[in-house]
Amino acid sequence: MRGAVQGVGFRPFVHRLASALGLTGWVNNSNQGVLIDVEGPRASLEQFLSRLRTENPPRSFIQSLESRWLEATGCAGFEIRASESAGARLAIIMPDLATCPECVREIFDPLNRRHLYPFTNCTHCGPRFSIVESLPYDRPNTAMRKFILCPECEREYHDPADRRFHAQPNACPKCGPHLELWNTGGAVLSTHHTALLQAAEIIRDGRILALKGIGGFQLLVAARNEEAVRRLRERKQREEKPLAVMYPSLEAVRADCRVTEPEARLLLSPESPIVLLRCVAPPAPSVAPGNPHLGVMLPGSPLHHLLMAELQIPVVATSGNLTDEPICIDEREALPRLRHIADAFLVHNRPIVRHVDDSVVRVILGREQILRRARGYAPLPLPLTAGRPAAFDFTSPILAVGAHLKNTVALGIGGQVFVSQHIGDLETLESYEAFLRVTRDFQKIYDAAPQLIASDQHPDYLSTQFAASLVARQLGPRSLAVQHHVAHVLACAAENELAPPLLGVSWDGTGFGSDGTIWGGEFFLLTSKSCRRVAHFRQFRLPGGEAAIHEPRRAALGVLYELFGETGMMKYGLPLREISGPSMTPGGHPRFRGAHAPRVPQSAPSPTASLSPGNFDDPALKDLAIMLQRGINSPLTSSVGRLFDAVAALLGIRQIVRFEGQAAMELEFAIGDVKTDESYSFRLDSKDDTQGGSLLVVDWEPTFASILADIKREVPAALISARFHNTLAETIVAVAKRTGQSQLALSGGCFQNRYLTERAVFRLTEEGFRPSWPQRFPPNDGGIALGQIVAAMMDVE
Ligand SMILES: [Zn+2]
Ligand SMILES: [Zn+2]
Repeated sequence: MRGAVQGVGFRPFVHRLASALGLTGWVNNSNQGVLIDVEGPRASLEQFLSRLRTENPPRSFIQSLESRWLEATGCAGFEIRASESAGARLAIIMPDLATCPECVREIFDPLNRRHLYPFTNCTHCGPRFSIVESLPYDRPNTAMRKFILCPECEREYHDPADRRFHAQPNACPKCGPHLELWNTGGAVLSTHHTALLQAAEIIRDGRILALKGIGGFQLLVAARNEEAVRRLRERKQREEKPLAVMYPSLEAVRADCRVTEPEARLLLSPESPIVLLRCVAPPAPSVAPGNPHLGVMLPGSPLHHLLMAELQIPVVATSGNLTDEPICIDEREALPRLRHIADAFLVHNRPIVRHVDDSVVRVILGREQILRRARGYAPLPLPLTAGRPAAFDFTSPILAVGAHLKNTVALGIGGQVFVSQHIGDLETLESYEAFLRVTRDFQKIYDAAPQLIASDQHPDYLSTQFAASLVARQLGPRSLAVQHHVAHVLACAAENELAPPLLGVSWDGTGFGSDGTIWGGEFFLLTSKSCRRVAHFRQFRLPGGEAAIHEPRRAALGVLYELFGETGMMKYGLPLREISGPSMTPGGHPRFRGAHAPRVPQSAPSPTASLSPGNFDDPALKDLAIMLQRGINSPLTSSVGRLFDAVAALLGIRQIVRFEGQAAMELEFAIGDVKTDESYSFRLDSKDDTQGGSLLVVDWEPTFASILADIKREVPAALISARFHNTLAETIVAVAKRTGQSQLALSGGCFQNRYLTERAVFRLTEEGFRPSWPQRFPPNDGGIALGQIVAAMMDVE
């Protein structure tokens, strides 16, 4: 816990609360805040977590509370431990925090001098990471230095009894930043509160507003206005990927979505993330097409509070960028980049020092799980202290440059890992520049000169090439290439404080394997010395390489070819079911690209060819068969993500995707309310590995034989999908039994699949295993940089 939690009777309060709930463990003060380790029945722990926030001592304030669920260690009693002052006192930069209740009260109080002032904040809330230029965190080192405090604000700033004592971004209508409404030409239409009222009018009219928020621009449009939402999608070139919605209040959210108690807590937390909720009444069809969930957030800054109070309707709030580009932070830069999307710009004169996107979080298995880690969370470090996977080398700083999609970078310094805010997919020049900026920024702000640079093993990733170029030009430190799926396992093990040995399950769409093939269905045995691959899914060829990432139908063909050869593949062809291809926009190409596989000209038709979008014609099929036969541009893969694609295509759910993971998501959603414990059979074969050991191979031949039979028998897709998901969970149980490891770490993009994760955890627990999964860092590639740091500390490739 960080915030005003020391010297305010916080530890005695924690002691009382824990004892009252019959919980054991300890609490202490550290250089960063208060650390609590508490043990007991789940329900009591949840109560503890919730009451910490609501019953804290009067003068205390919790700025951020990060919790993880750990294995019980068998504490007796509850104690207040001695303060921890050992180790380097590291500069902790607080994340940007949502407006506190006191400040919210002030901006809506007509008698308060900050009435309707959109830049109100105090020591408990407001911007931090997005305004810091350098450390120490003092006003002259922030974007606020150009605003000279008025006498009244100055008094607050120097009064130890005031809530604004040393609140660096302190401001008021007299001395602080102000709003302006601009047209697309950059002309000022209005200023101050009038600008806000006119901006609200623009949204009400169904037009698109670009708003300069906390960590960058957002695009806002009335969420119940289908036509307006569609216009936003067209202009932003974002075809089907779900959009997030900001609601004026929790009550308003409840009208459209189911909200559980932990979800409500998250929505109202100082981190104020986008929370994925089960949606029962979508605001408009185009907000999140085909998706039973909705990304929802509540106002997190005074500006948002004022705007939403004026509007009283939900608004789509998506990052201010063109798809694949990083979020805009500067109004002069935003104007040319967003003028073709937005109808007006609500801007202000407080500079944003670095981009910080909205974070995305969900509750799974009763716990929070961060899917995109940025505003509210970054750059809080993960301390690698207790139960670390190995004897780490703490002495020299390590820089990790992450993967390719959902890139983040990280710095390992003195036993802490600082993971950057979400950067994005390194698909465009703009994103790569953002990557370079964050990498430089991180080294500068923590004053770290890395001795080691860790990257992915994929030679084509821009992040890998950046690391290689530094080393090649002798500008940088020595390098370590960490296998992608090993990094997933290590990230999960580190944040869950799992002591090895354990079985790591690492499943995703694609990652570069140490043998040069594409991995993605891997199992590792992690010991304190090594992370060794002990099992993988049977490999098959992906016709077209990179193209297969966008076209699940190619994965299906690869699977059919592997099972039946050319004749069988041609006989089955595609589809087995009626095709429900994607809706094509005129001249539309999939905006989503992937740089995983080698780029080779395609011989197969592009999605825009005059074919039925889901189907290949005979000549195209023949070409693909030849590619597969000769192994031309048809890399081998063990990817579970591609197996999801294959099943989705065979079931006619999706042949071509519009964004990463879409087919797998839709296959999961196809299950709907079907409940079954049935699964398909599979084989677990043993083969010799190259090091003279043995390797288990999960052979899905019986699985696909049954799926094809079920399709012929017209078994509902919901049931086939559920059985397929269950089968995958059973493969984990089977491999766990064979390797004899009781502790498991489940990670990789596939575990963003809620059904799969819940089923795997349920079955493993039922069989007596102890599974863990990512909570504070994303299971997707956003967690790779963390894993790379851990690998470097353990010296594991
Ligand atoms: Zn406040
Ligand atoms: Zn002032």
